[in-house]
Amino acid sequence: MPALQRICILGSTGSIGTSTLDVIARHPGRFVVHALSAHSRIEALAQQARVHAARIVIVPDAAARQRFLQSWVGPQPRPEIRVGAQALAETAAEADVTTVMAAIVGAAGLPAALAAAQAGKRVLLANKEALVAAGSLFMQAVRQSGAQLLPIDSEHNAIFQCLPHNGHRARAPSTPPSGVRRLLLTASGGPLRLIPLDQFEAVTPDQACAHPTWQMGRKISVDSATMVNKGLEVIEAHWLFAMPAQQIQVVIHPQSVVHSMVEYEDGSILAQLGQPDMRTPIAYGLAYPERVDSGVGLLELTRLGRLDFEPPDMLRFPCLQLAFDALQLGQGACIAMNAANEVAVDGFLRGHIRYTEIARIIESCLDDAASLPGTAPESLDEVLELDARARRRAVSTSRLLQ
Ligand code: NAD
Ligand code: MG
Repeated sequence: MPALQRICILGSTGSIGTSTLDVIARHPGRFVVHALSAHSRIEALAQQARVHAARIVIVPDAAARQRFLQSWVGPQPRPEIRVGAQALAETAAEADVTTVMAAIVGAAGLPAALAAAQAGKRVLLANKEALVAAGSLFMQAVRQSGAQLLPIDSEHNAIFQCLPHNGHRARAPSTPPSGVRRLLLTASGGPLRLIPLDQFEAVTPDQACAHPTWQMGRKISVDSATMVNKGLEVIEAHWLFAMPAQQIQVVIHPQSVVHSMVEYEDGSILAQLGQPDMRTPIAYGLAYPERVDSGVGLLELTRLGRLDFEPPDMLRFPCLQLAFDALQLGQGACIAMNAANEVAVDGFLRGHIRYTEIARIIESCLDDAASLPGTAPESLDEVLELDARARRRAVSTSRLLQ
């Protein structure tokens, strides 16, 4: 019987957080919930803490703490309530925790995910923005602390599964996997793949969030519509697998069944297939190197009939090209791209800017980042400083566009 894992879920009320709890509940002797965190939806957090008997919850501020207390009804012992971003990072690093699911959305998830990596935990990384903003620091932390890093993003999880790793890949080696020619990242193309380009100006948040194959949080759903998501994933793959950008190719695959592929020097391509359900990569990360039931049903290939692949149209998805540009420009540009996108998507979801302005805001922040000295940030503080600069620029660009 494998050792019991005590799990801290950062962002437990989100789409990834809820799927993680669903998998954990299927294996009571194997996983226990140590800590849960949420930023809003505090009543949902209380419900999760009750059902999964969490020992600790982390909420953002005193008002949320009050709401949690009011939501706690019934005779069960109440979990310890911790408050604030510092508490998130400290809980992720504390000795009682073996495994951290990093499922906060955006760069806000970086400090706690990094703290888990520095503390040598098994880190299940869904929060791709952490790697985009601080890939070098993050991978270095994994290597130095002896943490285990398991990618949860479905594409990277697929690639991880298709690589010959024998365990060492999870230790973040700084060299590319041997014998690999290219990584082929698949992308569904999102909800706007077939919409005429002249209708893009009028795309609404609900249209952009209506993903054809995946159920996800609203920020990543908009990122899928713009294909910023795939761009962030190219940068994520670059850091996770130590692969140069030229050896990462994006392929549109509308059925979202092939989750990604590894092409080897001998001409072999290995792929991982499955239903578009995040419980598969989550179960893989939780039980690695074993396999456990995730609750995901069978994939009936004969009912599916066909799998299509096509190249991405960079005119339709300019943000994908911007991500390749950012990777070429360096770490500062990647931070700027990510921060600008977060500000732009938030503005779009609130109805302040148009869909087509997301790309313009990112481009403006990349121009600004390109004007800065190209040295990579060496600490979390430097990363956060560049992030804040890009956010200020993105906000002022958005105002000019309104
Ligand atoms: P979501 O919006 O559904 O959930 C986000 C979670 O983070 C919530 O629990 C929320 O309370 C918390 N949160 C939000 N802002 C916070 C802040 N400032 N501080 C602390 N906590 C905060 O998002 P999601 O779809 O679950 O995505 C989570 C992460 O996983 C993202 O980085 C996303 O790119 C990645 N991811 C998601 C999917 C998916 O299928 N949903 C797939 C691959 C990768
Ligand atoms: Mg993905």
